[in-house]
Order: sequence, then structure tokens, then C-alpha cells
Amino acid sequence: MPEVDRAAASREAVRKRRARATVKASIASGARTALDVLDTATREPAGIEGSIRVTEYLLSIPSIGVTKLNRILEALEISPVKRLGGLGRLQRDRLREFIVERQPKRRRSRLVVLAGPTAVGKGTVAAYIRDHFPEVHLSVSATTRHPRPGEVEGVNYYFVSDEGFDRLIDQNELLEHATVHNAFRYGTPRAPIDRALAAGDSALLEIDIQGARQVRAAMPEATLVFLLPPSWDELVRRLVGRGTEDEEERERRLRTAKVELAAADEFDYRVVNDDVARAAQEVVDLMKIHGE
Ligand code: 5GP
Repeated sequence: MPEVDRAAASREAVRKRRARATVKASIASGARTALDVLDTATREPAGIEGSIRVTEYLLSIPSIGVTKLNRILEALEISPVKRLGGLGRLQRDRLREFIVERQPKRRRSRLVVLAGPTAVGKGTVAAYIRDHFPEVHLSVSATTRHPRPGEVEGVNYYFVSDEGFDRLIDQNELLEHATVHNAFRYGTPRAPIDRALAAGDSALLEIDIQGARQVRAAMPEATLVFLLPPSWDELVRRLVGRGTEDEEERERRLRTAKVELAAADEFDYRVVNDDVARAAQEVVDLMKIHGE
């Protein structure tokens, strides 16, 4: 083989090896199912998936190690040198059946949005869930507002500049974003949500109503929960009681809250925040109902 051809062939071999590694990594991370990879290999035996060895394929599945691998190959009567695209019909059927059987009966991934009028206590309920239900992934939003005393970067919010927020939007890193109370911008970083859902975890977003509507449009399978105050008077009391906003800001938030309360009917579920622990439990129970 002439030198140039040899160089090209080896580059091609490297490219293929990398592509195979990417496919295996996607099985390992759960981004792709083993079944999908096998079916692709069947459709295109000469493609990348088809060129993966059965041994490598099985080892990329979490929970299959070398010992199990040998037992599986023996049981399926498949030689370890075989590639997915080169399996005989019966071997393929046996392997497929094996994969289908052992597909994790995973909880369906669940995205839950908790919204509601201002000062209804969404933040408190979300914080309670963060502290008591560690299996729920609570989204940390980015915001252009300044930290309040006691708020921690990366826990309560990612505090970013206006330019930083623009960058997040430009790079399509936000699942949704909105200007809240005509003042600051808030948005949900997309990547951590995608990761949580890919891992089979539930993710909870505590965001405003405009954001909830955007999530519904982008991910119709999301469950929308509306947190209600026990009464309007109680809502006003909570808003004034917080004392972190000045008079003008309070008025503005009350006006927003009135409009927001009217949106309750658009939501899948309504939970009354009469008691934080109880309301938090109800939200988590809703996640479980849908997670099974
Ligand atoms: P605060 O400034 O009091 O922490 O939050 C103000 C409002 O912003 C709350 O109603 C909260 O739900 C909403 N919010 C927080 N994070 C997000 C977000 O990522 N997206 C949207 N749309 N609203 C958010």
C-alpha cells in the first residue's frame, strides 16, 4: 500500500475507533439505550454501531463486568470476536431478547415545575425539598439580581451580570428565562436538568409562571404544579412580612401576584401551602406518582 494511502487508512481507523468509543460512552452514561445501539447495528451492519465488538458492547452496559460477560456470551452462544453487525440472525435475536429483558425498569424521568404567585412560599417549599429529599434534583437558576444576605452562589442562585446572562441566552444554555417583577432576569440552566433526567432522576424547577409556560411549550411531558396561598390575605401578610422589598416594589409584586393567581387553572396540579412540610410532601408525592 502506498505511504499516503496507509496514512489515510490509519486516520480512518482512528476516526472509527473514536466513534465507537463515543457510542459505548453513550450507553454507559444512559444517553443511549443498549437496545437502540443494537437495533442501529442491525439496520446498518457496516456502520459504526455494526463495527462494535459484542464484548465491548456488553461491557459498556453498567452492571456487566468481565465475569458476567463470559457467562452471557456462553449462554447466547456468541463468539467473543463477533461484531454487532456480523451476528447471525439467531445470535442477534438471542442477544436482543437478553437486552430487552434486562433493560432497567427505570422510573420514567420526571420534570416537575413548581410555580405560583409571588411570596406564596415557593422558595421555602423548594428549600425544604432540597434539604429533606436529596433524591430530587433541584434546579439552581441564574439571575441578574444581587444576592440577599445569607444567599450562597451555586446553592440559591448563580448570580451573573447582565452580559453574563446575555451570553447564557446566546449560547442556548437556558431552558427558559424571564424578567420577573419587571426587574431582574432569571433563567434555568439546561445542562444540569438534562443530566438529571438522563440519569433517571426527578428534577424540580422553582420558577415564575412565565417560565412555567415556556417549559410546558419546550417539554410538554413536564408536570406543572401551582402553589396556592391558603388565602389572599395570607399572601399579602407573607409579602409584607418578608420586609425585603420597599413599598413600591411590594405594590408591584402584589399587582403581579393578582395576575399570577389567575393562572392557577393552567396547571396540572394545585397544592395549598398551608404548611411547608406538608406542601413539600405533596409535591414530592406527585413526582413519585408520575415517576413510577
Ligand atoms: P427571588 O428574587 O425572590 O429569589 O425570586 C423572584 C421570582 O423569580 C420568584 O417568583 C421565582 O420563582 C422566580 N424565579 C427564580 N428562578 C427562576 C428561573 O430560573 N426562571 C424563572 N422564569 N423564574 C425564576
